[in-house]
Amino acid sequence: MNSTVENFKNIKSLINNSNIKIVAVSKTFPLQHIEPLIDYGHAHFGENKVQEAQSKWKLIRKEKPHIKLHMIGKLQSNKAKDAVTLFDYIHSLDNPKLASLLAKHENSLNKKLNYFIQVNIGNEPQKAGIDIKSLDDFFYYCTRELKLNIIGLMAIPPNDSKEPYYFKHLMELNKLLNLKELSLGMSNDFEVALKYDTTFVRIGSSIFGNRT
Ligand SMILES: *Cc1c(COP(=O)(O)O)cnc(C)c1O
Repeated sequence: MNSTVENFKNIKSLINNSNIKIVAVSKTFPLQHIEPLIDYGHAHFGENKVQEAQSKWKLIRKEKPHIKLHMIGKLQSNKAKDAVTLFDYIHSLDNPKLASLLAKHENSLNKKLNYFIQVNIGNEPQKAGIDIKSLDDFFYYCTRELKLNIIGLMAIPPNDSKEPYYFKHLMELNKLLNLKELSLGMSNDFEVALKYDTTFVRIGSSIFGNRT
């Protein structure tokens, strides 16, 4: 069996819960490297750059309509329209300007996406995500004014010994907003994230190998 598919099956058996979606993060890898997992029937794939995602996925998406594409990286405003065209999910919604542009393009393209609001859960100056103190206002702006379909929160917590604390905090914020989905956990910490009710894990290197 192909090693990518083998790795995927291994992750799946560790998760052992069919309600949890595995977003196979294929950023930096060429399509040939991803194809075995597509052929195996996996549906959810993640990318972090709009242009790279377009060149890899535009054609194959037409052939395989069951594929769901996830934008997990920082999204520039000038790429918002392309992102609405290509993706099904955006995990990195974190500012009002981007939100209003996405809503505008949803209307003009007559398409609705699913969104996670990215939270800067560790309050780290260099990291993306909305501040915890602005989360409520931003959430209601997105849902009430813009009618965006916000399905959950997403975070990349500081990778330190306090990681479970951040996971728990995000899980609690998610509950307060009555959100059903949670995007938490990567290759090195998804097993911890499972304890905090994550529903979407974003796994790259443990499936596709190390990125160069
Ligand atoms: C690259 C990336 C991942 C996957 O990381 P791995 O450690 O390779 O599993 C998950 N989430 C985001 C936001 C990423 O940029």
